[in-house]
Amino acid sequence: PATIEKIAAGEVIVRPASVVKELAENAIDAGSDRIRVDIEQGGKRSIRIRDNGEGIRYNEVKLAFARHATSKLSQIEDLNHLETLGFRGEALASVAAISRVTIRTISKSEELGSETTFEGGHCTAQRVLPYDKGTDICVRDLFYNVPARQKHMMKDKTEERVIHQVMGRIALSHPEIAFDFISDGRKIFSTPGDGRLQSVIECLYGRSFFKSLKKLDAKNEPMELQGYIGDLTSMRSSKDRQILFINGRTVENRGLSRAFEEAYQGYLMNHKHPVGIIFMTLPGRMLDVNMHPSKMEIGILNQSLVDILFRQEIRRAVQQMDL
Ligand code: ADP
Ligand code: MG
Repeated sequence: PATIEKIAAGEVIVRPASVVKELAENAIDAGSDRIRVDIEQGGKRSIRIRDNGEGIRYNEVKLAFARHATSKLSQIEDLNHLETLGFRGEALASVAAISRVTIRTISKSEELGSETTFEGGHCTAQRVLPYDKGTDICVRDLFYNVPARQKHMMKDKTEERVIHQVMGRIALSHPEIAFDFISDGRKIFSTPGDGRLQSVIECLYGRSFFKSLKKLDAKNEPMELQGYIGDLTSMRSSKDRQILFINGRTVENRGLSRAFEEAYQGYLMNHKHPVGIIFMTLPGRMLDVNMHPSKMEIGILNQSLVDILFRQEIRRAVQQMDL
């Protein structure tokens, strides 16, 4: 692909975890209820995602890998009421531009499936193939043609840890989907897909951790909060279990992260951070999800008001626990 293509791809895909996030989101958008993710060498060697979703029609596979091809956005106004996780039609094109991809898929509406391969963004082969259900996409040799990026990837263990985190967040936001996450043939976690957030938390972090959490259920117009927050016994030295979702999307937001810590002021122990798995709901008009290609950062209009409401509600919940 042209340099410009690779640069654009590099905006969306910065490391193996970005591939996992985009492909898993596609599997979710496709209506899957079982998703299996296999990585090798921290995803650097391969990332394979299998789902049982609606699949892609034979003659639409190549199109799906073209830039700005999306089946999910009909009008620009739709951005305000996004139902699907993907909407830019950039992910597959970006991934394919900087790796070797094999995709097997069968559409619910067709008798036969297909297998298509791409190398550096170009389709190298396509054939009809019997396939049972859903989509199986395998991404190999990420950044093989972008040496600068390749050098920037971390040790296998580090990339694996980031992917683990991404997968955890995805699983937490979709308790109704059974996820299997496997790294170098070793099972990292499996969630049952029984629709209960509690089950996912227990699978990821253990039962005793779950027991240290208190249910959060609060409303302060126009904000709603649901999920769990921790007591003193669940405080941790890193912020890795401070997980916030806004309207179902995992986000990083500094203001809210600070507000969360402030709500525990007076209870925080030295160098410890409170934990929480929090689902915030805000009216779509208050969000700017278009800010960053990775969609991780989210812009909130009226951020300081939301920070205050959030801190108040968390504070109230903290005070109701006997710490
Ligand atoms: P977006 O998700 O923003 O639409 P992508 O590049 O991620 O863009 O995907 C392009 C299109 O390919 C999607 O709109 C969808 O139609 C199709 N697609 C991708 N992955 C899957 C999948 N796992 N199952 C079914 N369709 C898929
Ligand atoms: Mg997508």
